[in-house]
Amino acid sequence: EIRVRFCPSPTGTPHVGMVRTCLFNWAYARHVGGTFIFRIEDTDAARDSEESYHQILDSLRWLGLDWDEGVEVGGPHGPYRQSQRGDIYRKVAAQLLERGYAYESFSTPEEIEARHRERGEDPKLGYDGYDRNLTEEQKAAYRAEGREPVLRMRMPDEDITFTDVIRGDITFRAGSTPDYVIVRANGDPLYTLTNPIDDALTEVTDVLRGEDLLSSTPRQIVLYRALEELGIAKWTPRFGHMPYVMGEGNKKLSKRDPESNLLLHRERGMIPEGLLNYLALLGWSFSAERDVFSKEELVEHFDIHNVNPNPARFDDKKCVAINADHIRLLDVADYTRRLVPYLSEVLSGGAYEELTDREREILDAAAPLAQTRMQLLGEARDLLGFLFVGAAELEYNEKALSKLRDSAPEALRGAREALNALDDFTPETIKPALDAALVEGLGIKPRFAFGPLFVAMTGTNVSIPVIDSIAILGREEAVARIDQLLE
Ligand code: GLU
Repeated sequence: EIRVRFCPSPTGTPHVGMVRTCLFNWAYARHVGGTFIFRIEDTDAARDSEESYHQILDSLRWLGLDWDEGVEVGGPHGPYRQSQRGDIYRKVAAQLLERGYAYESFSTPEEIEARHRERGEDPKLGYDGYDRNLTEEQKAAYRAEGREPVLRMRMPDEDITFTDVIRGDITFRAGSTPDYVIVRANGDPLYTLTNPIDDALTEVTDVLRGEDLLSSTPRQIVLYRALEELGIAKWTPRFGHMPYVMGEGNKKLSKRDPESNLLLHRERGMIPEGLLNYLALLGWSFSAERDVFSKEELVEHFDIHNVNPNPARFDDKKCVAINADHIRLLDVADYTRRLVPYLSEVLSGGAYEELTDREREILDAAAPLAQTRMQLLGEARDLLGFLFVGAAELEYNEKALSKLRDSAPEALRGAREALNALDDFTPETIKPALDAALVEGLGIKPRFAFGPLFVAMTGTNVSIPVIDSIAILGREEAVARIDQLLE
């Protein structure tokens, strides 16, 4: 059975790299019928926050990435928050120390650097193994000075080779990874210890994570082997390192870049279907011919072995275009409901059910026209907001106003007359009436006949078709808007 895990540290806003890691683990687990575990690595009280934890939970739920074991849902290996597992780590650390896999180290960073300098080496070379074989007397002497030791893992003097499921064979040369700290002087266990212990105890078979963690893999393999010998781990898992995601200027996308911020994607109206689809393309492809697919299709086709090891590029234009495709694929009633939060500024409620009958009527009529004209739900305010405010609150876009021709007043007056004369007020009657009055009657070119009306109704020059706007607003409001622009 395949068991994979997603184990973020809740130290900030969920970001693209983090969620892509989650998605690939999830998709792989679902593809092979395995188990997806979600644990939280909150061992750094100074940096972890509950806010971040809840944002991560919300983001996964929003994207529809469910987990089989883990926080909130429980499971046989709980608790799934490392902050609640201190006793487990302390016990294992004591065993590692007792059996000599780890040792107490008293060197301060300054002393380590000074020793490198004395030997004419780069002072930043890292820990030099100085405390590996301290005698009991030496340790007692350090303690008498008031020093408390950290625990370090003893790295073997041999090459460490493993087969990365994405990158193939990788070898770390003997001596390239210094003995590393697993427990702080104050007794707090570090990520380097807790992460492999929990992978072992939850029987993870495949550790699939970002390339930034590749350098810590030899350390973890060594710890795993020790855990196996202690009977704590059943095996050393396979590892797979997903490619970096590059942003602008071919620089690694940073957690701080706005395109990396998952909450901003949601705020601007990426829909989960669209974002999930785009994130899947960061290192993987569906096929040469197709890049728009559903979550179900992803699960059917996704294989971690087909992930490309080369850096992926975050292309925001493509991200938005894929979102537009998914918006068009939504059932129109579903789409209509999803618009409401993005129009909250001009609506009486934040959910469809909370709206007035009139608001729902307008939204139901306008939504099908907007669905093919937007890429992000966040465009709803600009595209449709004009329908929900009174003429007096309508805002005019300067650029749209500046494009109006000298013939605009004439066109507007002609339109007012034609609209006032109509019996039936529907798009089917409005269109021919305006054509007859403005284009045939006054001889104004269609573009110049309808342009001013567009601005009169919407205040802008990008929206749903003007005839529909007029019909939805109704005669009284449409004429009021014409009069207002004529003033
Ligand atoms: N807590 C680690 C991180 O957020 C997880 C590393 C791993 O997946 O092994 O970077």
